[in-house]
Amino acid sequence: MSVWRDVIGQDSAVATLQRAVAEPGAMTHAWLLTGPPGSGRSVAARAFAGALECPQNGCGECRECRTAVDGTHADVDLVATEGLSIKVEQARELAAMSALRPSVGPWRVIIIEDADRLTERAADALLKAIEEPVARTVWILCAPSLEDVVITIRSRSRHVRLRTPPVEAVAELLHRRDGIEMPMALYAARAAQSHVGLARRLARDEGARIRRRDVVALAGRIHGVGDAVGAAADLMSIADEESTAAATERDVAERQRLMEMLGADPTARTQPPHIRSQISSLEKEQKARATRHSRDVLDRSLVDLLSVYRDALVVHSGAGLGLVNQDSIREVQALARSMSPEQLLGAMDAIGTARERIGLNVAPLLALEAMAITLRVPR
Ligand SMILES: [Zn+2]
Repeated sequence: MSVWRDVIGQDSAVATLQRAVAEPGAMTHAWLLTGPPGSGRSVAARAFAGALECPQNGCGECRECRTAVDGTHADVDLVATEGLSIKVEQARELAAMSALRPSVGPWRVIIIEDADRLTERAADALLKAIEEPVARTVWILCAPSLEDVVITIRSRSRHVRLRTPPVEAVAELLHRRDGIEMPMALYAARAAQSHVGLARRLARDEGARIRRRDVVALAGRIHGVGDAVGAAADLMSIADEESTAAATERDVAERQRLMEMLGADPTARTQPPHIRSQISSLEKEQKARATRHSRDVLDRSLVDLLSVYRDALVVHSGAGLGLVNQDSIREVQALARSMSPEQLLGAMDAIGTARERIGLNVAPLLALEAMAITLRVPR
């Protein structure tokens, strides 16, 4: 057993991190783990923390290893934002905390799971703490790529790159860790393009599989402008459905908890000003979270859609191997018959542009409609 067992397909990254744990000379105080979404940045960061805290450098079984991995270790702080950015106030708190000595283990480890969401000001607030760290503090920052991280932070951290793990490795993990049958695990790993978290959800949640199939089916069905507008609206509503399902219950529960904490009377028609302001700041947070989540879901749908065109291109090339949408092979083949390789590339470009525009805060529906118009195929 090893604390690294769930860090799959990352031999060279694991070797680097293991060496840092074992040899003081190879250790440094700020690490930047990058890798595509779903490659296991957070899993790797936690395993690294476990290995640092473990008396045996990461046995995977002791209390230190287990609590570091599940996020309850007293000296391992996990920061994950659900909003669109990590604010300067939070960064200041982290900087202050980083000056504290570890309480039980050899290291204080601070893991920032979305270092790409640090604002410039928040990054500035962290800079000194990262640059001149206290002896027993380690920062582990995670982000999709180097370019996503403010340059001042980037230049002061050691970079370790994670890769997209192979489909088979993801399937094997789902099978071993989550008890998912191998054929389903393979389908899910392939359809999720090796995104571990998504693959797990696809394998376990039939609703998610249906929504994905609906997105895949959109390709090739867009003939006229009316279809295009309809497809854009469908994509929006699939994303909304998914994010609303996740949010509502939790929002209500949070509000209740806050009211209780403030000793507010939930039946009162109006609340005193100090309670009102607390509630409205909670609502703002919830709204930011919903926006981010629905954007993430939408982006994921576009990645799914993109995979169909990519598969059709693979079919054109005659390779026919490694299709993401093996389960929708007939749709893929039909698309390959009705579009030339150039048209398929054009479609992929249009989807890429829509993703970029949505990332830049263009109204999603507008970006989707422009994209869908480009995706039209003649009948
Ligand atoms: Zn251990």
